[in-house]
Amino acid sequence: MTPPEVVDTLADEERMIVEMVRDFAANELEGIAREIDAEKRVPLDAIEKMRELGLFGLLIPEEFGGSEVRTIVSTRVIEELSKVCAAVAITVSVHNSVGAFPILLFGSDEQKKRFLPRLASEMTGAFCLSEADAGSDAASLKLRARRDGDAWVLDGTKMWVTNATQAGIFLVFARSDPDPSAGHRGITAFLVEKDAPGLSVSKLEDKMGLRASDTAELAFESVRVSDSHRLGAEGDGFKVAMSALDNGRIGVGAQALGIARAAFDEALRYAKERQQFGQPISRFEGIRLMLAQMDTEIQTAALLVYRAAAMKDAGLPYGPQASMAKLYASEAATRVTHAAVQIHGGYGYVKEYAVERYYRDARVTEIYEGTSQMQRIVIARSLLGKQKRATA
Ligand SMILES: Cc1cc2nc3c(=O)[nH]c(=O)nc-3n(C[C@H](O)[C@H](O)[C@H](O)COP(=O)(O)OP(=O)(O)OC[C@H]3O[C@@H](n4cnc5c(N)ncnc54)[C@H](O)[C@@H]3O)c2cc1C
Repeated sequence: MTPPEVVDTLADEERMIVEMVRDFAANELEGIAREIDAEKRVPLDAIEKMRELGLFGLLIPEEFGGSEVRTIVSTRVIEELSKVCAAVAITVSVHNSVGAFPILLFGSDEQKKRFLPRLASEMTGAFCLSEADAGSDAASLKLRARRDGDAWVLDGTKMWVTNATQAGIFLVFARSDPDPSAGHRGITAFLVEKDAPGLSVSKLEDKMGLRASDTAELAFESVRVSDSHRLGAEGDGFKVAMSALDNGRIGVGAQALGIARAAFDEALRYAKERQQFGQPISRFEGIRLMLAQMDTEIQTAALLVYRAAAMKDAGLPYGPQASMAKLYASEAATRVTHAAVQIHGGYGYVKEYAVERYYRDARVTEIYEGTSQMQRIVIARSLLGKQKRATA
């Protein structure tokens, strides 16, 4: 159940959007969620329907063809999708929060006019920061951008690119200054179109969860990108990436929250139905305490996620709050889905019951868009500032 004080902050038309998405998920995703997970299939038809419903333009202003809603609304949308199919939810979340949103924040007028209407209506966005040797330490990325007249030439490999096989536009972070001392200031962001010669999907990952979402390695072999496709100033790429991730972390928090809610609902229902020792297992103290703990963690996660969204909507700095929301909600989702499997006993361990999928899907929310360890570092840094280590 959603806390009433949060529902009350939504205007009627905002509540209608959330309800529309809930209906869409029930009608179009619920029946296929298990099958697309088993088949590792991206449900392209359902994705097109979500595009028609405007879910790919949630953060894009109307003047660029979107339906710009408040973050609290887009957060609720991701949560509703995640309750039914977290793989589809991450497609939408990545597209909106780290695909389209950075163009809104850092794009020139010309770039906004060129890319945002297409992102709202016809193509999916992807975010390419991570590399094989640059994950948490993203500033050490190596994909090279070499200036050549009024263009750039990109060479290297990106890993873990969500939406890689379906995206029309890739936000790519590259090292434009080869001087190692430039560090994160040597990184520039580029918008690369999918048909750019030299760009290819080099490997599809076979994942534990979110199996109906495509995650792939991308190869860049002398990919030529016009300087007009540079997003933000030369050397500002890391800033673009970090701003995008602050926003993305609210989406991952919402995803974790949705998965946890779904697992809890299943566990509660099962506990009331399953009989052992001549009575429903919900009568046993051990099960009741688990359910109480699960619901408390879900409610806490919801408050943190919604608060981060509300802070962004209020125009307040929200980076550390987004990290806290993502950190807590993702770890809570792992605990809640773990408990949901436990409450199902052996039935929780087979694919016939959805809690098995929720358990697998929840796990990655502690890893992507910054691991739990990195979220704690961000939060500590906001409390203490960057402190130099003492040397002996
Ligand atoms: C399904 C999936 C989808 C993804 N989608 C995208 C995407 O669309 N775009 C994209 O760019 N990336 C994406 N990623 C990559 C993801 O963001 C990285 O996996 C993540 O940032 C961690 O990097 P890593 O895997 O290299 O782990 P590492 O950075 O090697 O970390 C390994 C371990 O060391 C810990 N660690 C590292 N540094 C520290 C430190 N300073 N202090 C304490 N502990 C530390 C980590 O917390 C972790 O536990 C995706 C990943 C997955 C699994």
